[in-house]
Amino acid sequence: MSVLVVEDDPGMAEILASALRARGHEVQVAATGRECLRMASLVEPDLVVLDLGLPDIDGADVCRQLRRWFLNPIVVLSADADEGRKVAALDGGADDYVTKPFSMPELLARLRVAARHRQAVAAALGPAAVTIGDLRIDTTAHTAAVDGRPLHLARKEFALLALLSRNSGRLFTHSELVAHLWGRPDAPKTEAVRGLVAQLRKKLGDGPARPQIVTDAGLGYRIVDAEGTAAEGAMAPAPQGSSSS
Ligand code: CA
Repeated sequence: MSVLVVEDDPGMAEILASALRARGHEVQVAATGRECLRMASLVEPDLVVLDLGLPDIDGADVCRQLRRWFLNPIVVLSADADEGRKVAALDGGADDYVTKPFSMPELLARLRVAARHRQAVAAALGPAAVTIGDLRIDTTAHTAAVDGRPLHLARKEFALLALLSRNSGRLFTHSELVAHLWGRPDAPKTEAVRGLVAQLRKKLGDGPARPQIVTDAGLGYRIVDAEGTAAEGAMAPAPQGSSSS
């Protein structure tokens, strides 16, 4: 995994980084909230370990800001007395917290659990590569193309198209989309969703085999193929907790 460690105490940052590297993870370190936000958008780490006591931006705010687009696990580190901040971070979308001082095995175990949980969610979201008409979207390679022509999508445009395409035919309500894209169902982002959909439609363009993003008035959106049906390639997610062996 690639891990972004956000910690302003250089000694602590070094301990964390070397423990993670020793277990084969790729580690980047940020010492401030601003640096964290910048680096996270550059490297898109698989996991963020975030100290709540940062010199510039409060860790809980960093968490909230990250969650506007970042879907991978965030595990926060907090000092013992930080009950309020811990709660704020969890409300802001953190997956878990570890209280300082902690043992390294404890932290590593929490990170493993958070990563596993995230994988389960990703698996439930559907297949990584989907073809609908002449749209092909691959969420692992982070590419999308129509009729062989690559689409240049902003991060949230891609996230929205990926969600709709992996579940083609399924209606997503405004609040589901807001929760998926911004991490919280109550964020007032309906206008922003509308804007993203308009952008996506423009970028997708028209064509005989081009899928359509359909508006269900007052409810939300779904993607359908040119004939107006769910695509063959997009399947319903596997039943949760099922196992084939
Ligand atoms: Ca600190």
